[in-house]
Amino acid sequence: MTTAQPSLTAPDAAGGSQDVQPTPLALLLLGREADPRSERGVECPGDLPSPSDPDLVERARAAKEKLGDKVFVLGHHYQRDEVIQFADVTGDSFKLARDAAARPEAEYIVFCGVHFMAESADILTGDDQKVVLPDLAAGCSMADMATAEQVAECWDVLTEAGVAERTVPVSYMNSSADIKAFTGKHGGTICTSSNARRALEWAFEQGEKVLFLPDQHLGRNTAVRDMGMSLDDCVVYNPHRPNGGLTAEQLRDAKMILWRGHCSVHGRFSLDSVNDVRERVPGVNVLVHPECKHEVVAAADYVGSTEYIIRTLEAAPAGSAWAIGTELNLVRRLANRFASEGKKIVFLDKTVCFCSTMNRIDLPHLVWALESLAEGNLVNRIQVDSETESFAKLALERMLALP
Ligand code: SF4
Repeated sequence: MTTAQPSLTAPDAAGGSQDVQPTPLALLLLGREADPRSERGVECPGDLPSPSDPDLVERARAAKEKLGDKVFVLGHHYQRDEVIQFADVTGDSFKLARDAAARPEAEYIVFCGVHFMAESADILTGDDQKVVLPDLAAGCSMADMATAEQVAECWDVLTEAGVAERTVPVSYMNSSADIKAFTGKHGGTICTSSNARRALEWAFEQGEKVLFLPDQHLGRNTAVRDMGMSLDDCVVYNPHRPNGGLTAEQLRDAKMILWRGHCSVHGRFSLDSVNDVRERVPGVNVLVHPECKHEVVAAADYVGSTEYIIRTLEAAPAGSAWAIGTELNLVRRLANRFASEGKKIVFLDKTVCFCSTMNRIDLPHLVWALESLAEGNLVNRIQVDSETESFAKLALERMLALP
């Protein structure tokens, strides 16, 4: 069910105003009904165990034991501790998808993460392996900011402006299978936060411009901070405005066409958070994820992916102090892990900053998924159709072949 929304008016780059075409969004309660255009508000069938059931840990352990090698549980770094304790491996989304592909004997891959990650795991694993997402409402607000229809419309705008044939799409791993397939179909590649620079360098060898989807911050930070481009080389395509809110001339002049998407978790950190922690914690090193805003990244001491953040803290000397700008579940786990080594680790912001959709995967959902599988009921399977899969795989393979 969708609701019609009125057209809005917003100022354009030149200070005038133009019509804003809002994307029709489903207004659904989380956990009820289904919206095929979005990952939010998807019904969860079956009887979930009560969150207060004192036997939840034992039930998860017993179901996993019963399944044995048939099940492989993946835990993204941003998952809750109550879930992570049952993960066979932990990591970022791409590492987890590859770990799953390396376990062909596992019939069931239970992905404790969000929807686009489960799609990537389905794309990279064998046809006989079934990927399960314990709660279908675990989507990603960033991935939802670029729909297949919007991106197809954007390509039409680029074609109209005469720049499409010189533009190479580069899509962040944090995107739907549809967007990855679009990228593969148009000669582009996928990137992660670890290899974004290599992906952009490759793309600029293939064409003159990059359409970077869907995280404007990762695109801008990589282009400007890592590759020496200027902020003026970047324009932002807003899918809610006619022609993306850009003129044909702006599109022709730009090197980086950034999609107007962001991570709602990393987007919360501000320059004030950085200045404030430097006052509160003497000698602190500020270490942030490249999904943070450009001014935050520019003010930080170190910038990198979650795997980079972990490696940097592992190598940090005893007595050092660190403020970390990434999801709170991971920061808390790192603070506990390194406390005994005398490393002080604090969260960059003063306010709580969990990823709410990641947190949809809780122990009751994990127990429900594992017990269902142990009883022979395949639930919440994530399956990408074969055409989408083949084009998405093409884009992923280009990434794997990056120098
Ligand atoms: S942390 Fe950000 S990018 Fe990652 S799943 Fe949550 S909303 Fe999406």
